[in-house]
Amino acid sequence: MSVVEPVVELGRGLWRTFSSMFEKPVTIQYPEQKRPVRPRFRGRHVLKRYENGLEKCIGCALCAAACPADAIFVEASENTDEQRFSPGERYASTYEINMLRCIFCGYCEDACPTEAIVLGDNYELSFTDRRQAIYTREMLLEPVSSEDKITPQQTPKGAYTRSVPEMKNPQD
Ligand code: SF4
Ligand code: SF4
Repeated sequence: MSVVEPVVELGRGLWRTFSSMFEKPVTIQYPEQKRPVRPRFRGRHVLKRYENGLEKCIGCALCAAACPADAIFVEASENTDEQRFSPGERYASTYEINMLRCIFCGYCEDACPTEAIVLGDNYELSFTDRRQAIYTREMLLEPVSSEDKITPQQTPKGAYTRSVPEMKNPQD
């Protein structure tokens, strides 16, 4: 090996170090700065509501059946017009996801007939205790924008008989 080769390699290495000093940094100051997630990112689940505040979840447990990690537990109770949580007969009185089991596959989202469970863009899921890894219905439910949208609600008799909303376009 000639003496030129190591010197050339050393020069290339030094040049690489020097030129990178002028490149835009790829690191960001997390948690003050947060990078936007990709459109199909699957983060922490959210239980969605309709515009009037009623919960989309009807406690059917199809998400639990579809979950390959057995991470979801659902218990349903009966709605009444005086104490209505969701349209139709039943709502999820208990809804829990064990985040230690969840593999963020999104099967629960696909199985849901009312599009109630959605994997959102929140990726801040650290916990220090196993019990904190169980996300309850109250933690997962979308917040309401005003007091009158809090569930349960008193609703007109016979106004919410369908559990699954009528589809405008079945191709959607
Ligand atoms: S994302 Fe997958 S693993 Fe997680 S709760 Fe839903 S179905 Fe189960
Ligand atoms: S989230 Fe959807 S699939 Fe799961 S219990 Fe509620 S309505 Fe049924």
